[in-house]
Amino acid sequence: MKNIKFQDTTLRDGEQTPGIAYSLQDKIVMTDMLCKLNLNSIELGFPAASKEEAEIVKEIAARNTDLNNIFCVFARAIESDIDIAYESIKEANCQRIQIVAPASDLHIIHSTRKDKASLLKDVEIAMQFASSKFTAQDAPRADINFLKELIGVAIKNGAKTICLPDTAGFCFPQEYGELIKKIKEYIASDKILLSAHCHNDLGLAVANTISAIEAGVGQVECTINGIGERAGNTPMEEVAAIMNLKYKNSYSNNINLKYFKKTSAKLESVINMNILNIIFIEFNITNIYITMEIQKKFELFIVFKFYMFHNIYY
Ligand SMILES: [Zn+2]
Repeated sequence: MKNIKFQDTTLRDGEQTPGIAYSLQDKIVMTDMLCKLNLNSIELGFPAASKEEAEIVKEIAARNTDLNNIFCVFARAIESDIDIAYESIKEANCQRIQIVAPASDLHIIHSTRKDKASLLKDVEIAMQFASSKFTAQDAPRADINFLKELIGVAIKNGAKTICLPDTAGFCFPQEYGELIKKIKEYIASDKILLSAHCHNDLGLAVANTISAIEAGVGQVECTINGIGERAGNTPMEEVAAIMNLKYKNSYSNNINLKYFKKTSAKLESVINMNILNIIFIEFNITNIYITMEIQKKFELFIVFKFYMFHNIYY
């Protein structure tokens, strides 16, 4: 039975939720909870974002030198980012620096202002330095030939995991599944792990993540309570519930389900925001189909909370 790995990004992508900024104590408390869930990997942050962020990550890595959880940090394909990332994470027992680079024309123009040839060179050098994981930002909107070239360079220079994030929350499930299949076919190696990372701008993050699993990814990236940039990331508890209800004969995972309730509640207290508040943040930001979305999300919230916490975890 195929095992699906779970990577948590509550402490990195989740921190991009409007209104959230973790303190050191917040990240310590949440890291302890996330470790209990027995996740395959936990993203601690983006150390190059600020001196404080680098210090926080370093402190957490130093507190967890004997754990087998893989702790990850984010770095762009820039030498200074990689240096800071390495300094921050080096004391953790198992560590990974994830190199991220834009794949779509829009992201290349706005985030790097480089031409594609220079970007490929940057990725080549960065991967040699640092990483076993590469993230091709905004992959679904990229030119497919350039996306393949970019991924090819990353793999040739050491990438063992390739993440294809739906950065803009733009995909329909079928589209995302087709992208995963195309890239899987292009890579043509079972030694390379494909990873899904979805955003909830169209309310499809969970559906897209499930579609990606069916299409062949071996890892999914999610957050507790679905917090994350703009309308949020993929709620891990919902994916875990679906995997354990609908796919238990097809896929396995290592998650320790009984800690979800405590972890979800702890996060709500740490960020001082309950899940319904998140819906109102979406309300302010997306401003589309407001009434429908709130009703839908409210029902989902009730259904999942009730189902998960009372039918599965007890
Ligand atoms: Zn994201």
